[in-house]
Amino acid sequence: MNPHEIDLHKELKKYFGFDQFKGLQEQVVKSIITGNNTFVIMPTGGGKSLCYQLPALVLGGTAIVVSPLIALMKNQVDAIRSLSSEYGIAHVLNSSLNKTEVNQVKKDITSGITKLLYVAPESLTKEEYLQFLNEVPISFVAIDEAHCISEWGHDFRPEYRNLRNIVRQLGDVPMIGLTATATPKVQEDILKNLDMPNANTFKASFNRPNLYYEVRTKTKNIQSDIIRFIKQHKGKSGVIYCLSRKKVEEIAHVLQVNGVSAVPYHAGLDAKTRARHQDMFLMEDVEVVVATIAFGMGIDKPDVRFVIHHDIPKSLESYYQETGRAGRDGGEGHCLAYYSYKDIEKLEKFLSGKPIAEQEIGFALLQEVVAYAETSMSRRKFLLHYFGEEFDDVTGDGADMDDNIRNPKTKVEAQDQVVA
Ligand code: ADP
Ligand code: MG
Repeated sequence: MNPHEIDLHKELKKYFGFDQFKGLQEQVVKSIITGNNTFVIMPTGGGKSLCYQLPALVLGGTAIVVSPLIALMKNQVDAIRSLSSEYGIAHVLNSSLNKTEVNQVKKDITSGITKLLYVAPESLTKEEYLQFLNEVPISFVAIDEAHCISEWGHDFRPEYRNLRNIVRQLGDVPMIGLTATATPKVQEDILKNLDMPNANTFKASFNRPNLYYEVRTKTKNIQSDIIRFIKQHKGKSGVIYCLSRKKVEEIAHVLQVNGVSAVPYHAGLDAKTRARHQDMFLMEDVEVVVATIAFGMGIDKPDVRFVIHHDIPKSLESYYQETGRAGRDGGEGHCLAYYSYKDIEKLEKFLSGKPIAEQEIGFALLQEVVAYAETSMSRRKFLLHYFGEEFDDVTGDGADMDDNIRNPKTKVEAQDQVVA
């Protein structure tokens, strides 16, 4: 379709109530509406959903959206339904539906009501669904969280590798890949795997100028150091990430004993407790959540003021994602990581039980984490370089929001740290 025939701002307002597109959204929307294969790399919160939702709403046929998590799909479908009087405008197709529900979905698609169909990759492989989807008009297939395709990404899902073949069975429909995690390696993997080397690619900047990056050497005084830090940020919301559930419980307890209102969050807690702790944090009944990486997916609290890593994560993508939960509102966001080489050795030990290919990737990612932690240059420059982005550490936006820039190490200190 020719995008000039559509008043995109009017559609944006009509469906979403927004007056303006954010960042690269308008260009992406135009690319998709024109029927191009399109690749979108935008940080979390950048507004990727709208990039395919708006085209889906204005184009004929149904758009298929592949997404890895049922909870995320459900949220999105509920959000879309709230934009329209037509309940069937968006549906989820997955194994949780009974026969009657599946038939309703099929009916709504056939009658053209359904503009967005969310599916998990494993549902898309089901012969029954495929046959049906083959017979109805599909506007395009959007693959959200496309980094799941890559072993170099932080959330590899083997089923994602099959998507290209499946989409081929649906005929010649345009494909849209979207991700917030795009080191050049992951990008390459996505384009190769989706077999769309000539896709229109849109990459937003990953710079978060309001985030302050700091790394402290991890010593045995870490707990009192964290408590001091939190007391300096009294009344503010923060997240503390730990590697293990045991550590989460320990730190949460230590904080509580020391008068900090904190709750633990990890996959070992039952769903009810997890939901309660998450709500307490969102409602500001507690200041701090101590969590494993189980916490955060889809959490949208705009005023998280600090993210502390008690343990350094296994990759810089993870670090960027997790710290990215700070300062969503553009206000202060202090990102503090504690680092000791012992923790790296621990992570290496985790890896050593895995298949060789996975080990190699894991070690390479860890080396980048070490280099980040030990660098004496601008941490922002380092991170952005890792994402394939140039950053001017003198004039760039947020250039001084970094411990290495505010308190440059002397050469000797920097060397000491590397040797230690
Ligand atoms: P991503 O998938 O890139 O992490 P989302 O699609 O979840 O981001 O969008 C993040 C937030 O940005 C949502 O709350 C969404 O409503 C908002 N948003 C998206 N586009 C716009 C826009 N054009 N104007 C204002 N807010 C927007
Ligand atoms: Mg998203």
